[in-house]
Amino acid sequence: MSALFLATANAHKIDEFRQLLGGRHLVLSFRDTSARIDVPETAETFEGNALLKALAWARYLSIDTCNLGVEWVVADDSGLEVDALGGAPGVHSARFAAMRGGETGNSADGDNNALLLRLMADVQEARRTARFRCVLAVVPVSDPNPGAAAYFSGACEGRLLGAGAGKHGFGYDPLFVPDGETRTFAELGMEEKGRISHRARAVAGLARWLGERAVGL
Ligand code: IMP
Repeated sequence: MSALFLATANAHKIDEFRQLLGGRHLVLSFRDTSARIDVPETAETFEGNALLKALAWARYLSIDTCNLGVEWVVADDSGLEVDALGGAPGVHSARFAAMRGGETGNSADGDNNALLLRLMADVQEARRTARFRCVLAVVPVSDPNPGAAAYFSGACEGRLLGAGAGKHGFGYDPLFVPDGETRTFAELGMEEKGRISHRARAVAGLARWLGERAVGL
C-alpha cells in the first residue's frame, strides 16, 4: 500500500479519489496538513497544470517537517470539452464564467453552468456532444522534478442537457449525460459515476502503475 498526497483543494475530487483508491492506498490531502498552497494554473494544457500542482506540493512535502510519510503526490487537472464550442471551456473549466466577465479566480459552479446553458441554447441535440477529460500528474516526493513525473489520462464521452438535473457531484455534473446513460452524472451519484468517469479511467491507469511498482520492489 502506497501513501499518496492529493494536490487539490477540491473536496469533491478528494472524495472521488478516496472512493476510487481508498481500499488500496493511503490517500492524504491538505486536510492532513496545516499547509495551504495556492498554485496558479498558468499552463494551457491539462498535463501542464497537473504538473504545476503536483510539483508545488511535492517540493513542499520534500522539505516539510510534518513528516506525513507520503511517497507520491498526485494532481488532477480536468475539465469539460464541448464540441459545439470548439473544445471550450477545456482547461478553463473552473473559471469559465469569471474569464468571460474579465475577472480572475474560479467561478461558482452555478455561474459556469448558467453560462454554458446560455451558449448552448440554440444548439440542436445532435451537436450537443462533449467529453470530460482528466489528466493526473504523479511526482515522487523523493525527486520533485518534471523529469520524474508520470501521467495518466481518462476521458468520458457524453452530451449536454438543456437544463440541469440531479443533486450529486460538482461542477458540470448536472448537465452531462455520459454515453450509454439516460441520467446525468449528478443523478448517478458518486458510486455509479466512479465506474465510468474520466477520473475513474485515469485512476485505473495510476492504480495499475502503482501496483506494478509495488511488485517490483
Ligand atoms: P481544476 O480543479 O482546475 O482541474 O478544474 C476542474 C474543473 O473542471 C472543475 O471546477 C469543474 O468545473 C470541471 N470538472 C472537472 N471534473 C469534473 C467532474 O467530474 N464533474 C463536473 N465537473 C468537472
